[in-house]
Amino acid sequence: MTMSTNLGWPSEPDPAPEHRRLGWLARRLGVSRETGAEDDAHTDAAHTDAADSGAHGVTVGDSPLVATTSASDEHVFRSSSFEAATPAAAEPERVDEEASYAPEPGIAGDGSDAEGASATDETGSEGPTSLTSADPAARAEPGDSAQPAQLSEVVGKEPDPTHRGEQHSESAAPVENAVDDAGRFGGSERENPQDGAGDNVVDESLDAARQLVDHADREALVAALPTPGSDTPLARELAENARRRIQLTGRPFPKPVSPRVLTVANQKGGVGKTTTTVNIAAALAQAGLSVLVIDLDPQGNASTALGIDHHAEVPSIYDVLVDGTPLLEVVQPCSTVENLHCAPATIDLAGAEIELVSLVARESRLQKAITAAADQGHAYDYILIDCPPSLGLLTVNAMVAASEVFIPIQCEYYALEGLSQLLKNIDLVKRHLNPALHVSTILLTMYDGRTRLSAQVADEVREHFPEQVLRTTVPRSVRVSEAPSFGETVMTYDPASSGALAYLEAAGELADRGAAGQA
Ligand code: ADP
Ligand code: MG
Repeated sequence: MTMSTNLGWPSEPDPAPEHRRLGWLARRLGVSRETGAEDDAHTDAAHTDAADSGAHGVTVGDSPLVATTSASDEHVFRSSSFEAATPAAAEPERVDEEASYAPEPGIAGDGSDAEGASATDETGSEGPTSLTSADPAARAEPGDSAQPAQLSEVVGKEPDPTHRGEQHSESAAPVENAVDDAGRFGGSERENPQDGAGDNVVDESLDAARQLVDHADREALVAALPTPGSDTPLARELAENARRRIQLTGRPFPKPVSPRVLTVANQKGGVGKTTTTVNIAAALAQAGLSVLVIDLDPQGNASTALGIDHHAEVPSIYDVLVDGTPLLEVVQPCSTVENLHCAPATIDLAGAEIELVSLVARESRLQKAITAAADQGHAYDYILIDCPPSLGLLTVNAMVAASEVFIPIQCEYYALEGLSQLLKNIDLVKRHLNPALHVSTILLTMYDGRTRLSAQVADEVREHFPEQVLRTTVPRSVRVSEAPSFGETVMTYDPASSGALAYLEAAGELADRGAAGQA
């Protein structure tokens, strides 16, 4: 196989129409590809391996984040009419990306993100994440000897060994010739009748069909990317990021079945609440959803990160909670991301915990403000509430206003300490104030693929909360921590970085769950 090191199609004298279309998509997404039948031979061989080993997306050292075409999707693609081509059908089962690769020496990728470890390596013991050594043993850090043996006690729940088994039970399915698929769908697109334009049903069908074609194009591009060998971890990571970018960039996220209000809570400070709130919100908004961030932390970090003015005189969430100002009067648009709004927090909010104590219905003031805004006809698809690192009245207001709790957990040993207290508080609020409240989503943040500790904490959390933990983990990333100082989220500051890709991917999971009514 010859390696293509530029972004174009230098060696193809007369590319077929579907190839030209893929070339355009590749250039738009900024990735290189390879051509030829050898790719098919490699993918086929890899599929046999995948099928033999029964590997799956959430297993050791794999990437659950890169979708390939599964057998069921293949069936949908071959047999679908446009009516059947729903966004859900267009979203493939995520299977083992490693298994679908054939080992191939060399380098591919655009080199735009060489920082940090991959978000996709969940164990740190294998896979393409290490930039420093391909030898798993070399990644052990001196501090790794601290085994989180008591984590089960911290959470107060026995691990259920069946969950990981369930995750393994889904079988990896083969990728067929993706370029051929793209050609087939290209044909469908061209044959699609236009005479029903203006009719909503037809428009929806067309949209669904376009999504399917777009999906097929992306799959074809992913299949066409070369796979560097395990002796070149940096190249593997670059290729991996290129694949993820192809899969994710520009994909519209489905609207939730009903508007979702999520409280991003964890009474531990510095675990990534604010970072998660603003980046997930930005990713959802960029994917076409209407999103509001409510900054409920007196430090106003979320407001800063979104570039929202929040000096003392600015109307803020304090006015909403304490003075009963309508929520929409304090909401400001985010200048860097369309569809994204923020109710800022000013320093006044620091006194609100005390001032709220003497007010009527002190626990449900935020909830009333949100309901009143919705009654005025202003419904956001997503409202994310960034909580302070405490379990006081502000957090209680957030929990009464939301039906879902989104807990970011830092992949550190102490991360789970205090989680039982948080769960107890959620339970209290659920019993006395908000029966709908539940922990719907957990995101592992600041994952360091080079340490065993990160992997162990991640495994432990997944064992306790198999339904809630998102497959995506957010890696430690310099870009993520730099972004707020520019008044931006990493989604606009460096959209190609591993941190931005991880947040985009996590937001996609969140949106897919919401659309499937699983939240
Ligand atoms: P919290 O809101 O829970 O207190 P923050 O979101 O403010 O936590 O994060 C704490 C610090 O960690 C911030 O300086 C932030 O920039 C940094 N941080 C958060 N997530 C990441 C990440 N994935 N990689 C690197 N730094 C991160
Ligand atoms: Mg914060």
